[in-house]
Amino acid sequence: MTILNTVKGFLDNSEAKKLAELINLTANLGPGLEIGSYCGKSALIFGEACKQNNSFFFTVDHHTGSEEHQVGEEYHDPDLYDSKLGKFNTLPELLKNINQSPMQNNIIPVVGDSASIAKRWKTPLGLLFIDGGHSMEAALNDYHGWNEFIIPGGLLAIHDVFPDPKDGGRPPYEIYCLAKKSGNYEEIEMVKSLAILRKIIR
Ligand code: SAH
Ligand code: MG
Repeated sequence: MTILNTVKGFLDNSEAKKLAELINLTANLGPGLEIGSYCGKSALIFGEACKQNNSFFFTVDHHTGSEEHQVGEEYHDPDLYDSKLGKFNTLPELLKNINQSPMQNNIIPVVGDSASIAKRWKTPLGLLFIDGGHSMEAALNDYHGWNEFIIPGGLLAIHDVFPDPKDGGRPPYEIYCLAKKSGNYEEIEMVKSLAILRKIIR
């Protein structure tokens, strides 16, 4: 997985390995989709697995960054600031990384706000990976807007789930709890901060 060393992003090796496995578990059900492309680290991991079984992966992002990526914030990367646009912009880096890879035909970037796209989305999904904004509003929009598209038997994966508030922010953990409480999901596994649930078949 050279992607892990060459592409900017926020994934640990064990989480990345697990993400690739999720494609193999769900490709027969339907395509996968993630919220939060950033520079394509997770999308390329998913895409590499998709290439092996001729499946597709959608990656959604407005590309202007989450709160923590903005100028002056903890995770701001000045290389990703577009001075012509006067804003943070990860789209050129994403397109460069996809186009330089052998997975360019397996990854489909969808550019825009997650909630706006969800309202117009129709395609059922085998896998949904939520790794978008970390505000409560963003996390709730991602969960409520997208989880209905997961096919029964398909997987919901959520990144940055920290059961102990000392380890990090709460919204991803809150939607993970909502999914469990809904009665529609069974918990499968937790790898570092990556939570994996399966939609129950009724
Ligand atoms: N999955 C990536 C990391 C994603 S970081 C990796 O593996 O490296 C979170 C991303 O979510 C940011 O790029 C940010 O622009 C995006 N994001 C935040 N809120 C969003 C929203 N409402 N709609 C679309 N994308 C959003
Ligand atoms: Mg994350």
